[in-house]
Amino acid sequence: MTCEVIENYELKRHTSFKIGGCAKRAFFPVSTEEFEELLQNLENPLILGNCSNVLISSLGIENDVIITSKMDKFEVINNTITAQCGVKVPMLAREAEHRSLSGFEFMIGFPGSIGGAVYMNASAHSQAISDTFKSCRAFDLKEKKIVELNKDEMKFAYRSSVLQEGRYILLDAKFELLPVSKEEISAIMKRNLEFRKYKQPSLAMPNAGSIFRNPPNDSAGRLLEKAGVKGLKHGGAQVWLGHANFIVNIENATSTDVSQLMNKMYNEVKEKYTIELMPEVKFVGIKSKEEEELWDTMLNKK
Ligand SMILES: Cc1cc2nc3c(=O)[nH]c(=O)nc-3n(C[C@H](O)[C@H](O)[C@H](O)COP(=O)(O)OP(=O)(O)OC[C@H]3O[C@@H](n4cnc5c(N)ncnc54)[C@H](O)[C@@H]3O)c2cc1C
Repeated sequence: MTCEVIENYELKRHTSFKIGGCAKRAFFPVSTEEFEELLQNLENPLILGNCSNVLISSLGIENDVIITSKMDKFEVINNTITAQCGVKVPMLAREAEHRSLSGFEFMIGFPGSIGGAVYMNASAHSQAISDTFKSCRAFDLKEKKIVELNKDEMKFAYRSSVLQEGRYILLDAKFELLPVSKEEISAIMKRNLEFRKYKQPSLAMPNAGSIFRNPPNDSAGRLLEKAGVKGLKHGGAQVWLGHANFIVNIENATSTDVSQLMNKMYNEVKEKYTIELMPEVKFVGIKSKEEEELWDTMLNKK
């Protein structure tokens, strides 16, 4: 294989949480051909975009890892944007603004890639990536070939898409945006950025965005705030004082510190409101026994 590979790659360098042990091998494809070759040949590789929605184990990752950061090309034809999976979403939002295309204003404030954003069906400020999504090319791990998926086949729902079923890896995606005046788009982006200044920690305080999903017709942040978890700490991890649904890495936190703190938050809300919050952040890598139990409680509702 011709693709760039780094052995014993320390993943904490790459994650917005600044947490994560080593991957034995990290591959950095630069083209669809290289990416496809890796997917044809590696056994069960883990795909990582910009690592802003993952808690990577401090014990590291057993599998090979493919990091998509160099799959960063995009093309704009009229109001259609086609972007490779590694394109950073705030950059693409600025590009759309520059071309007077509306639909990506919400993406200005978070550090994801197109692959991670489609996988999560990222959303904010009443916009979601599924709103503008038209189709994508994905690698089908079952049939071992590239396929095209349309919007219906993506099964988009709140923080969910077909990619989470594990069969498809996103290569690139096509979006149709709306021509609108640049001034209007810029004003919406400015408002979105202002809102985030107060409602979420900046990346100077390492974090991975919202920790729990919103339960139906409610807000995880509201429930956590009422449960009194703001400022709660475990090891080097703390619930952010500005908003109770964020954990910040204040002092060399480990994945166990964050998992323990999440469990405390989960239990506080469960005890007070009999609501079982669902983690939005994905744990990846080798779980210690302690982490196994904590995540089993939160995911399988033991
Ligand atoms: C400060 C901050 C604010 C945030 N605000 C928001 C917000 O407002 N709204 C929101 O929705 N999210 C938000 N997030 C979370 C996060 O940025 C988004 O979910 C983002 O889209 C994740 O993209 P990523 O590239 O970082 O994904 P990663 O963390 O790298 O990966 C997330 C998941 O996607 C999978 N994946 C990545 N690429 C591919 C691919 N090509 N094919 C298949 N699977 C893939 C990974 O395996 C993993 O399971 C925020 C995060 C931070 C740190």
